[in-house]
Amino acid sequence: MKLLFSGDGQLGQMLGASAISHGHECLLYSTRIEEIKPLSAQVSLPWSLQDAVAWADVVSWEHEAIPANVMAAARDKFLMDPARIQSLTDRRAEKKLFDDCRVATSPWQSYNTPSELEKILRQAQRGVVIKAARGGYDGKGQWRYQPGDDIAAVVSEAGQAPGIVEDLIPFVKEVSLVGARAKDGSTCSYPLITNVHRQGILSYSLGGIDTVPAAIAAQAKEAFQRLTDALKYVGVFAIEFFVVGEGADAQLLINEVAPRVHNSGHWTMLGATCSQFDLHIRALTGMPLPQLSIAPTLMLNVIGAQQIPAGLWHHQDAQCHWYNKTPQPGRKVGHVNIRTANHDTAMQWVEQWADNLQVLA
Ligand code: ADP
Ligand code: MG
Repeated sequence: MKLLFSGDGQLGQMLGASAISHGHECLLYSTRIEEIKPLSAQVSLPWSLQDAVAWADVVSWEHEAIPANVMAAARDKFLMDPARIQSLTDRRAEKKLFDDCRVATSPWQSYNTPSELEKILRQAQRGVVIKAARGGYDGKGQWRYQPGDDIAAVVSEAGQAPGIVEDLIPFVKEVSLVGARAKDGSTCSYPLITNVHRQGILSYSLGGIDTVPAAIAAQAKEAFQRLTDALKYVGVFAIEFFVVGEGADAQLLINEVAPRVHNSGHWTMLGATCSQFDLHIRALTGMPLPQLSIAPTLMLNVIGAQQIPAGLWHHQDAQCHWYNKTPQPGRKVGHVNIRTANHDTAMQWVEQWADNLQVLA
């Protein structure tokens, strides 16, 4: 089949590589320079977006911020309603979807103006997180507020654009569910992934390493089914959760969703027989979803570092990915997947390498 992806960043490149390995043809539309590109070459084709859409059997995306021109040109080539997907770039619509699907989330309110935000903060009884409705990623576009803090200072920054205010959750840990829904409504997913963030940016993920109580795993799957059914979604979909409470009292609160392949699923390139990129291609092209066989794997993000040290490129248990992006503090420029026996070994790798690989802003 012929696949066109909106976006030519690292996710688009990894999706494209997977498409090719399945015998498909693939082009990427660079939303930045508005040109059609073959995989990983610094050249563009003399094709308009309309030419590429006419060529393609299916159009998909590396990110849900699908530009208006792609939405209009590719309307008949998406496998679902792109407007529903694009609406998820607004945290208000995303939170409303959680409420509509009755998936538990941190209590929230929205604001449109500085005075509305100020009113909400004056009434806050506990710590809150303020999030810009649009454009936030990697912890950007977020502010914390505790009762007693200087309200005017927070409002002057966070009130500049609409947003939401939600309770600060004292989570035990953060986990994500990455899975896929096929055209026929069937789903499959990897086990819950443990994620650790530094300054709001994903630092590392543990795939197939941590175990969670069966009730938690079931709650995550139920949320996945409800949300992807509501969206009539086809492809890979990721959900970020907070785990609150311990042992038998543990439960999940949904934080946010990503209607696409997700950074916390990168470990599957080494740790699963079918990676999240392969899974997305299978769902798009109507192949049956596979049984997912996995091996314990750590994924360490490379953030702002100039390079991945040779010691990792050489190591028999490490698989390095470099995105060919200009390193800047806080910018994701690669990731390293590492085979690990268990949680302790994974933590030794993190201690040894995280500081070396991660330069935050
Ligand atoms: P994004 O990943 O789009 O930047 P998130 O909403 O996932 O935005 O926030 C980034 C990180 O900030 C989360 O992974 C979590 O560590 C922290 N965070 C966000 N919201 C809350 C909250 N309500 N309570 C506690 N921590 C939060
Ligand atoms: Mg997040």
